[in-house]
Amino acid sequence: MPLSEVGKAWRRQQRKAWRKARWCLLALALGGSAYAFTAPDDARPWGDLHYLGFVLLFAGIVGIVFTLLMHYRCPECGKLVGSATGGIDLAPRECSHCGVSFL
Ligand SMILES: [Zn+2]
Repeated sequence: MPLSEVGKAWRRQQRKAWRKARWCLLALALGGSAYAFTAPDDARPWGDLHYLGFVLLFAGIVGIVFTLLMHYRCPECGKLVGSATGGIDLAPRECSHCGVSFL
């Protein structure tokens, strides 16, 4: 595959990953605000919403991490695209495994 093709394939891959992660982002945003604007000792239903918000927030984070781990893969070698620090680089310029350029 010529380099520009790899870059295009990578961009498709990224878009797919975020499309799949958008419900998790929504859960994260909704859960996070519910959690932030309520307290556990508030009268019902706000006290319950606090815990629900926390569960949604947590599920959203887990979901996003899981989705990215599933889909942030190099189109050339199929390995997870990582950064030097070991985390996921959200906008990598090249594959950390085979070194192919995504630009
Ligand atoms: Zn690679």
